[in-house]
Amino acid sequence: MSTQDHETTAVCPRCGVADCRRAFDELYAKEFSDHAYAAVHLLTVDAYSLQHGEERSARSNTYHLVRLTAALEFAADSGTGSPEPRGWRERIERGIALPDFAIPADPGEMTVAHPTGAAGPAEHGERVREWAWAELERL
Ligand SMILES: [Zn+2]
Repeated sequence: MSTQDHETTAVCPRCGVADCRRAFDELYAKEFSDHAYAAVHLLTVDAYSLQHGEERSARSNTYHLVRLTAALEFAADSGTGSPEPRGWRERIERGIALPDFAIPADPGEMTVAHPTGAAGPAEHGERVREWAWAELERL
């Protein structure tokens, strides 16, 4: 394997971060294992999922975008997702048409690397929120 091949496999073609999935998995585990980090868990999941939206279905992208919007714009709990926008889960489960949107090719400047290495839960939450807002504005 050449150096170029190694770089191609290590750096994510979507976000440009080396081993981004591992970074995401580490944030995910921290948010599940330590209650102090859990408050922004769904923002982490939604921001990462949307930044890698080309790997997902349009329906999945819509799900994450609606939930991210509910948390950031309408103050839904970013740890639990509650309250959900009325009727939206039913619409998804029943296959009722939802607005579709295209994932921009440019992943933006902020990635899963932004919250990685935060000094504590407060900084973690702040960085995840900044990343989530950047992702919402990118879309
Ligand atoms: Zn990535």
